[in-house]
Amino acid sequence: MNVEDILENARKAFKLTTKHFGNKISFERALFLGWYCNLKQPCKFCYMATQKDKIRDPRKARRRLESILAEAILMKRIGWKLEFISGGYGYTAKEINDIAEMVAYVQKCKQYLNVGVVDLDSINLDVVEGVVGAVETVSKDRDWICPGKPLDKIKDNLLKAKELGLKTGITIILGLGEKEEDIEKLLNLIEELDLDRITFYSLNPQKGTVFENKPSVTTIEYMNWVSSVRLSFPKIKIITGVWVDKIPMISPLIMSGSNVITKFPLFSVFGTKEAYWIEKEILSTGRELLGTFTDVDVLAGKKVLEKTPYVEEEINISSENIRRVEELREGINERIESYVAKVLKKSL
Ligand code: SF4
Repeated sequence: MNVEDILENARKAFKLTTKHFGNKISFERALFLGWYCNLKQPCKFCYMATQKDKIRDPRKARRRLESILAEAILMKRIGWKLEFISGGYGYTAKEINDIAEMVAYVQKCKQYLNVGVVDLDSINLDVVEGVVGAVETVSKDRDWICPGKPLDKIKDNLLKAKELGLKTGITIILGLGEKEEDIEKLLNLIEELDLDRITFYSLNPQKGTVFENKPSVTTIEYMNWVSSVRLSFPKIKIITGVWVDKIPMISPLIMSGSNVITKFPLFSVFGTKEAYWIEKEILSTGRELLGTFTDVDVLAGKKVLEKTPYVEEEINISSENIRRVEELREGINERIESYVAKVLKKSL
């Protein structure tokens, strides 16, 4: 496709997005459980895979529950929805269930899971809004890039989630050698799985991986993927990830049909000049921003956020997990204070 067609498609996609979603853009962020993945054949682009041999005790590479819950509480304060609860492979269904219950409880809303092929029969689905499958790429080299995550199993898991009444989504990383003609494959996959959302990321080439010295996706290519999805699926939620070195991509992605911006390191960027620039990028498209990346009073709990994407729901979890959260309260509050202090040190 030539560049004029891509720009024309973006123009149409922007209009279509306004028609179905109004004028709002929000931030989301994945809630990570740890730094270890036990896939025997890890994904070729993955940072965690490069660290695997350095981790002697995988249990120590997991985040403490207090930190996970503190982050969930702060995310709600600043109006960033959790994109999903995510970790490498290696968590039991019970562990996933307990964490999902506790996160849903402190946030008072259901959650998305992106934790590999999970046994949904062992999860309290009352706290789950949806399931995300880490498809990562639709390029012909997918089996080589993600040898430990067969596409068929991910598809079966997502179809089962749909049958159970959950929403579903996938993640796609651009910059893994995909070609423009692969867009068609992605559109077919979205249709086949009847997806409710898709998350795009641009590859952040990691040292020690085969992609270390490879260029990532260009802005025009990224726009082409996003607008193609929007034009074919006007009502799908599109989440686009950019790293802090790609801030100028934000407004073109919104113009191409993105609803949500993700992938920023929250506490190291909040309130800094990059955070102000990111907000400005969003507002420059004429969209309204839900949530904040700059208001430290909101983060510190001194002020209540005015515009939030959160809608509180009734959440029922086991009494055992309610007890665990309450026992952890003091530790959670300490973690909250420490995250806020870290931000205050760097913010403008
Ligand atoms: S499944 Fe996720 S954490 Fe594990 S190797 Fe692949 S990308 Fe990395």
